[in-house]
Amino acid sequence: MDRTHAHWLEAAASFVPRQGLFVEGSFVDAASGDTFVTRSPRDGLKLADVAAGDTEDVDRAVRAARRAFDDGRWRDQSPARRKAVLLELAALIRDNAEELALAETLDVGKPIGESLRVDVEKTAATFAWYAEALDKLYGEIAPTGQDALALITREPLGVIGAVVPWNYPLMITAWKLAPALATGNSVVLKPAEQSPLSSLVLAALAAEAGLPDGVLNVVTGFGDTAGRALGLHPDVDKIAFTGSVPVGRAFLRYAGESNGKLVSIESGGKSPQLVLADVSDVDKAAESIAWGICYNAGQTCNAGSRLVVHESIADELVEKVRKVTGGFVVGDPLDPASTLGALVDERQLDTVLGYVELGRAEAGAVHGGRRLRADSGGYFVEPAVLQDVPRGARVAQEEIFGPVLTTTTFAETGQGVAIANDSRFGLAASVWTRDVGTAHRVARRLRAGTVWVNTFDASDVITPFGGFKDTGGGRDKSLQAFDFCTGIKTTWIDLCP
Ligand code: NAD
Repeated sequence: MDRTHAHWLEAAASFVPRQGLFVEGSFVDAASGDTFVTRSPRDGLKLADVAAGDTEDVDRAVRAARRAFDDGRWRDQSPARRKAVLLELAALIRDNAEELALAETLDVGKPIGESLRVDVEKTAATFAWYAEALDKLYGEIAPTGQDALALITREPLGVIGAVVPWNYPLMITAWKLAPALATGNSVVLKPAEQSPLSSLVLAALAAEAGLPDGVLNVVTGFGDTAGRALGLHPDVDKIAFTGSVPVGRAFLRYAGESNGKLVSIESGGKSPQLVLADVSDVDKAAESIAWGICYNAGQTCNAGSRLVVHESIADELVEKVRKVTGGFVVGDPLDPASTLGALVDERQLDTVLGYVELGRAEAGAVHGGRRLRADSGGYFVEPAVLQDVPRGARVAQEEIFGPVLTTTTFAETGQGVAIANDSRFGLAASVWTRDVGTAHRVARRLRAGTVWVNTFDASDVITPFGGFKDTGGGRDKSLQAFDFCTGIKTTWIDLCP
């Protein structure tokens, strides 16, 4: 049933955030008793007192996770049982979709309809998909001689620390948790300090679904305390990280300074949308390019933030893109009519407005990019198009993480590909052309973990997601994600002892 603005305002007024860290199946205070205040980006008002986990809490959670792993209470369950629990979790996520969506929207300011239909639904779908996949993983038999049998099997890694960002809190958490839990690991999750609330609901639902105590623990807190403690913990086997490049590098250092734990990194992007002169449908491209930068207020790692367009169609396309970006309804995220919500916090608002200012010096023209709805107390910004930006400009090179699109033109395809690849990031890219041969040739040359052809941001749990270059080499989603939460074991058996 479609809910009204009034319904969501009422729900928000009676929303009670879950309190505490989630350790060994219970909500507990931080050892220090400390909490920190979170504010909703929709109005800047206080939302919750969140437990400020630190080293002692991380240690407690890791010890609980280790005990759960070592005694086999989860990993030794039959695949059928693990599948049933994760399917039940997916069902409970759908049953509790409104609470989860509300937590997400109040925490990060995304439109409630998107939280409900995209974030919560895809979270449920991800758990269901990995639940169904886990009993279809087979090992291999090596080609030994007749006198031996060598088995190659996958094993869970042990205790996995999952550290996630605030832009898609539930969805990215599901990408980390679902394959890790499916394969029998224990997890300590550290949500971003801006967006801890939905993960606490998720943890409670996992327990209700039958996940044994200690298998999933959530330590809320800050990056340089709780996150650092998890990265440095000697009994964590692996860190699955999504976030910024500098913090990803910090986790590599923590691993080097502690136990050499595995670290997989999924960091930022500056994704090019490369539009060739023979694009077949300029209107469709314009619509897709505008959504590619405005969805989630541009706070998307793979946001299509650089439009690289052939000079012959640049004016027409940019005009059309501006028309679509101008049509976004910037409004209260709890109003189902809003299509563009708030930025996550005041710091992010200042960052985005700062880049728009920089664009005035670096771009040929700046359209949009003003702060909106300041009287609400929230952090809203109008989409911006920075037109005719030199490829080396800071606004074309640095990840802005807001609804800010740069445009750069080229004269021939090779030059367009070079501009598209001129980035330290390598997460995603798109190419728009009517020629299938050109599409394949250009797609091969684009250095990105995902290349879309004549579309943008089409995705599903069935395909891997991650990047090259400074984006890091981790992969979420699809069967490939199992490679990042399992280790390979060889068992060599002498058949003629
Ligand atoms: P961030 O790196 O600041 O924080 C990510 C997580 O790391 C948070 O949980 C945070 O508390 C923790 N952290 C921060 N400092 C830490 C430290 N010193 N030690 C240990 N942990 C620390 O990133 P963010 O601002 O939350 O998210 C935005 C970034 O995430 C962008 O760069 C975006 O592109 C990236 N991102 C990437 C993907 C992807 O799949 N590739 C998806 C979403 C977001």
